Amino acid sequence: PADGQSPPWYPTPPGGTVTQWSESYKKAAELVKKMTLAEKVNITTGTGWQMGLAVGNTGPANIVGFPGLALQDGPLGLRFADNATALPAGITVGATWNKGLMYRRGKAHGQEARLKGINVLLGPCVGPLGRMPAGGRNWEGFGSDPVLQGIAAAQTIKGIQEEGVIATIKHFVGNEQEHFRQSWEWGLPNAMSSNIDDRTLHEMYGWPFQDSVKAGVASVMCSYQMLNNSYSCGNSKLLNGILKDELGFQGFVQSDWLAQRSGVGSALAGLDMTMPGDGLRWANGQSLWGPELSKAVLNGSLPVSRLNDMVTRVVAAWYQLGSPDDKDKKVVNKFIDVQGTGEDAHSRIARQVATEGTVLVKNEGNILPLSKDGWPALETHAINMRIGIFGEDAGEGRGPNACPDRGCNQGTLGSGWGSGAVEFPYLISPISALKTAFNSDRVYVTDFPTNSPPLKKTPEILKEQDICVVFANSDSGEGFIADAGVRGDRNDLYLQKDGDALIEEIATGCGGGKGSTIVVIHSVGPVIVDKWINLPGVKAVLMANLPGQESGNAIADILIGNQNPSGKLPYTIGKSLDDYGPGAKILYYANGVVPQQTFSEGLYIDYRHFDKNGIAPSFEFGFGLSYTTFGYSNLVVTPVLPKSPFPSPRPAGIPAPEFDSAIPDVKEALLPTGFRKLKNFIYPYINKASDIEKGTYPYPDGYDVIQPPSQAGGDEGGNPDLWNVYANVSVDVTNTGSVPGKEVAQVYLGYPDVLGEASNVDFPVSVLRAFEKIYLVANETRTVNFNLTRRDLSYWDVVRQNWVMPVEGSITIKVGASSRDFRLTGYY
Ligand code: BGC
Ligand code: BGC
Repeated sequence: PADGQSPPWYPTPPGGTVTQWSESYKKAAELVKKMTLAEKVNITTGTGWQMGLAVGNTGPANIVGFPGLALQDGPLGLRFADNATALPAGITVGATWNKGLMYRRGKAHGQEARLKGINVLLGPCVGPLGRMPAGGRNWEGFGSDPVLQGIAAAQTIKGIQEEGVIATIKHFVGNEQEHFRQSWEWGLPNAMSSNIDDRTLHEMYGWPFQDSVKAGVASVMCSYQMLNNSYSCGNSKLLNGILKDELGFQGFVQSDWLAQRSGVGSALAGLDMTMPGDGLRWANGQSLWGPELSKAVLNGSLPVSRLNDMVTRVVAAWYQLGSPDDKDKKVVNKFIDVQGTGEDAHSRIARQVATEGTVLVKNEGNILPLSKDGWPALETHAINMRIGIFGEDAGEGRGPNACPDRGCNQGTLGSGWGSGAVEFPYLISPISALKTAFNSDRVYVTDFPTNSPPLKKTPEILKEQDICVVFANSDSGEGFIADAGVRGDRNDLYLQKDGDALIEEIATGCGGGKGSTIVVIHSVGPVIVDKWINLPGVKAVLMANLPGQESGNAIADILIGNQNPSGKLPYTIGKSLDDYGPGAKILYYANGVVPQQTFSEGLYIDYRHFDKNGIAPSFEFGFGLSYTTFGYSNLVVTPVLPKSPFPSPRPAGIPAPEFDSAIPDVKEALLPTGFRKLKNFIYPYINKASDIEKGTYPYPDGYDVIQPPSQAGGDEGGNPDLWNVYANVSVDVTNTGSVPGKEVAQVYLGYPDVLGEASNVDFPVSVLRAFEKIYLVANETRTVNFNLTRRDLSYWDVVRQNWVMPVEGSITIKVGASSRDFRLTGYY
């Protein structure tokens, strides 16, 4: 197809073709065979906005004993819930680069969902990927790199699903900005189109979804906007072709809320469940499915086989997660406390993620860590240090829940806003934690939780301080809320609420110019630090991301040295927005009836763009300091399997369950006599048999051309050979400093010595492929191992429509501490 157009891909590959799901499909098929048409439709269609306890609710199939499902946001905690944990946001999780912690956070989240009676959690989020640093919802995901996103998502999904809760990977795909993500918020007739070329879709935006499918995710949420000018939730190439054929996805596709834009068309294109059930408008009781789906089956415009597959996919996902055996499944209690207790308190995980997700980017003269007792060298029992804490972002404000869905920036910033935000059970502010963190006999702490401090009137306050800790922030969120002129996406990358001016004022005035200033930033993504980072007074800078409820405890632990910072940037901090390239700019003004965003930079977002163009960032992707130092030695690259260009042929898979394909009797969907309907509640029923108009209905272009299966497919997550390990990389990492600490060893690929056919392929300078976080005491050395799979070592060949490994020459393997700090190089 032409650029920016999406080709047809029909019919929908049925679920039930891989052994990992075969038991669940067997049980599901048995159940589905007993269902009436009305019951089947009920399972595919939400009951309508606010027609149930969760943000999404499906109808039950009562006669066969299949329950209605409750779907709830996600992804940093349980939305609209009480007595539940406000975990750190995805961006903070990404900044930990700690796989074990990613998994444990997912597990805590899943457990809370299960105990609150939720069947389907609407997270994790890997779309947006982070193409545009000002994108409103980047913070819900794990950072601007597909490998970091993919690994974090897979760990999170494992954690959630081990609790028997269906995880949802979202938003598939291309929802990179909030402006024009859909029509109604923006007064447009249509949503925008994200135009993404085939290679970029595979190597960038689709990559973390592939990891998620491989991890067994049981639901995928399609996004609001169009992909290549076809609505994502009705895009047959995307859902039938890429997701269900190539990636072998076995679960169900649900629409984002009102993202479904057609009835039969979207079912044919691979959508399995419509949420929240209402069709084109909120809460009007009218669905594009519900009774319309019943009609479509009865009048022959939707093949019965497609409906059976839709329903079987949902029921199989439910069996796959063991839900029927769940003892807790009947517990739906608003007030139940699900935060865990003792050793298992989820606040511990929240605190650990907040700590490890804090990135130290500057520490001049090793001013940090401070000590509980002030300056270590001075004599005991006398106030020897004065610490002033400045900035509204250090304080309580009007409490963390002052605005609905956290839709305003006030007090300390613990999360962004929108459906991804939760009610905080509490939020430990930096001031409250720092006031008790120091020995009060020796350290005098003063606080000024405002950005317009009374310093102009009483400049002596600032003059008196030895150390000034200044907090500032930058907030954004989902497009349905605007705050202070930020309509979802940020308008720039500067600090908000005059944070830049505040830092400058504090840094120049602290201690009458002799004090030391420590800057702490809470932010949804990168901020420009250039205005103040090189001021002589600024000695240390911490990027604390979005820490959730344990904010203050985490920052206090780092400042006084109870914890050694180990976070690494999950995005590049550039010196200006322009430095990120033209593709990094939000489209703020609609440029057509269907606004077009063409991703012409392809693979070159974030660090890949900076590297390609030789632009120096303020701080590069993967960077972060520690209170100790690390050395790298003994890089060994061991080929495990010989190079070969193509994966093994696609395996056949197992046959999907078979069903009777006869059109059911109309009686199966007639409104039962005497049935009283609730207003705006969506039912599957049609009123009378004469509502069915038999006829011939037009099908989408290309519907009658059966597509050949992709050679990149054949199992859950794609061709299994893509996941075989072809090279092993090992390296020794040593703690060369004097305190214990954690290092994130990172493996990047480069392609300078690639020869033959692949030498014509354009490759980024470096691409992240693997990482491990390791704990080392002083002088300790450990060997770290990384496995590189066939997919890791391949690129997507658009002509062959397959992953291809360059076999002539060699692939460079660079190991180090960030995307620009390579310590050792090897070859495969
Ligand atoms: C968001 C989704 C969310 C859903 C339900 C949508 O507006 O884009 O991420 O899961 O609402 O609240
Ligand atoms: C709802 C959210 C939803 C959003 C979508 C809001 O009114 O509260 O759940 O995600 O609309 O636009």
